Amino acid sequence: MLDTLSNRPDLPAEIARRRTFAIISHPDAGKTTLTEKFLLYGGAIQMAGQVRAKGEARRTRSDFMQMEKDRGISVSASAMSFDFGRFRFNLVDTPGHSDFSEDTYRTLTAVDAAVMVIDGAKGVESQTQKLFEVCRLRDLPILTFCNKMDREARDTFEIIDEIQQNLAIDVTPASWPIGMGRDFVGCYDMLNNRLELMDRADRNKVAESIKIDGLDDPKLAQHVPANLIAKLREEIEMARELLPALDPQSVLEGHMTPIWFGSAINSFGVKELMDGIGTYGPEPQVQKATPRAIAPEETAVTGFVFKVQANMDPKHRDRVAFVRLASGHFKRGMKLTHVRSKKPITVSAPVLFLAADRELAEEAWAGDIIGIPNHGQLRIGDTLTEGEALRVTGIPSFAPELLQQARAGDPMKAKHLGKALMQFAEEGAAKVFKPAFGSGFIVGVVGALQFEVLASRIELEYGLPVRFEGSQFTSARWVSGDKLAVEKFTAANKQHIAHDNDGDIVYLTRLQWDIDRVARDYPDVTLTATKEMM
Ligand code: GDP
Repeated sequence: MLDTLSNRPDLPAEIARRRTFAIISHPDAGKTTLTEKFLLYGGAIQMAGQVRAKGEARRTRSDFMQMEKDRGISVSASAMSFDFGRFRFNLVDTPGHSDFSEDTYRTLTAVDAAVMVIDGAKGVESQTQKLFEVCRLRDLPILTFCNKMDREARDTFEIIDEIQQNLAIDVTPASWPIGMGRDFVGCYDMLNNRLELMDRADRNKVAESIKIDGLDDPKLAQHVPANLIAKLREEIEMARELLPALDPQSVLEGHMTPIWFGSAINSFGVKELMDGIGTYGPEPQVQKATPRAIAPEETAVTGFVFKVQANMDPKHRDRVAFVRLASGHFKRGMKLTHVRSKKPITVSAPVLFLAADRELAEEAWAGDIIGIPNHGQLRIGDTLTEGEALRVTGIPSFAPELLQQARAGDPMKAKHLGKALMQFAEEGAAKVFKPAFGSGFIVGVVGALQFEVLASRIELEYGLPVRFEGSQFTSARWVSGDKLAVEKFTAANKQHIAHDNDGDIVYLTRLQWDIDRVARDYPDVTLTATKEMM
C-alpha cells in the first residue's frame, strides 16, 4: 500500500486518488481483454467475459452495430469508472480504428495518462505508433504493457530496444519475463523484488506473489527451473547495467515509460500494471484554458465536452455529452453556466459510467467523466463553469481529408437529411458544409470508412436513404481575418464558399494552387486546416 495518493499531497484526497487514462494499442494487441481484467480486479464485474458479452448484446440491436462488429472496430467510445485499492480509475475508451483519428485525438484531451499495450510477438505496430505520436503532442505519461507473453514473444531486450528506437522514449523495465511461450512461468518484479508466477490452470486467478530477497535467494530455485534462473540472473544484470532506472518524474513528463510484461488473457501482470498506474500515473492535471488555466483543486466546478454521442438509445433523440471535470466537486442538480451561450444548465440527470452499468451520478470530482443528456445544446469543445467565463483550449477540429456530396435517396426528404447531417456534425462524426451556391450538402471526413458508417446510421436512425457521391472539391479550409477583407474575398469566390454547422465560413477547392493563390492575393485573409472548437 502506498503512503501517498499522488505527487500532490495538497490535493483533496478524492482528487488525488483519481487516475484518468486511456488505452492505446494496435487492433488485436489485447485492449479488450485487458479492459475486462481491469474491471474484474476493480470489482466492477464478477467474471471476465462480461464486457464482451454485454458488448455483443448491445451490438445486435442494430445492423450498424453489426457492421461495427464485422469490421472489428469500435466506433463509439465510452468511459468506465472503477475502484482499485485506494484509487478511482476512470478508463476512457479510444475508438480503435485509424479512420477515427480525430475522435481519438479528442478523447486523449480528456485523460491524464495512457496505457500502451503491445503484442510481445509483434512489437510496436502502426496504429500504436500513430496514437503514441498524439500522446506525445500533449506529453502524456505513458505506461507500457507487453502482452501475450504466454506465446512465443520476441527477445525482451529487442522489444525494449524497438520501443526506444521507434518512439524515442526511455524504457525502464518494471518487471522482467521469465521464459516465454510454453516456458513462460511469470515475471520478476524489478520494483518490489518479488516473483510473480502465472497460473496456467486458472486464467482468472490472480498471480501468486512470492517475496524474495534478490536474485540469490534460494527460494527462487523452488519456483523457477534451473535453466531459466541462470538466464534471468544474466538478463537482469544486463538490464540494470544497460537500461535506465525508473525515474518517476521523467515518467510524469512523458520522457520515460515503465514496461510490465504479462498475459492479459491469463490475468497475469495486470495487477502489477494497475498498481503502477496508481503509483506512477498522474493525478488530475491542470487544464489549459483561456483567459487562465484551471487547477483541479479549485472549489468551483468546471468541465469540458470532449465527445458527444447521439442516439445512444435509438428510442430517444437525446444525446449524451461526455464531460471531463477539470476542477471542483460536482453534485447532482448543480446549476452550471454553458459558457458559449452564457445560459445556465441544470444538470439534473448526470450519468456516471460505472462499469457495471450506467448510473445516476450523485457526485463527481475533478478527473471524473460524467455524461450529460441534452437535446443538442452541448457541443464538443464547450466549457461548463459555475459562472466564470473560462474556455478550455486545445480541442481542435481538423479539416477533413475527403469530401463527398450527400444526396437524399428521396428528393422530398432533402430537408430531413440536412437536419440529420447537422446532428452528426455536432457529434463530431463528420464535417458538414452547406455551399453558399447551389443545393445539397458537402460532407467531409478524415477516413473513407466514415462515409459508410454515416450512411448506415442515417438510414437506421432517421429512416433516410442517402447516397454519397464524388464532389468537385477535395479540400476545405476555414476562413478568418479582417472582416472587410473576408467579405471581399467571399464575394469574389462565391462558387467556393460554404458554411459549416457552426455557421463559420469555409473555402472549398480541389487545388492546392488555389489555396496558395488566396494567400498571395488576400494577405488579410487566413485559411486554416484546423479550427479550435468553441
Ligand atoms: P483488441 O483488439 O486489442 O481489443 O484485442 P482483444 O482483447 O480482443 O484480443 C485479441 C485476441 O488476442 C483475442 O483472441 C484474445 O483472446 C487474444 N489475447 C488477448 N490477450 C492474450 C494473451 O495474453 N495471450 C494470448 N495467447 N492471447 C491473448
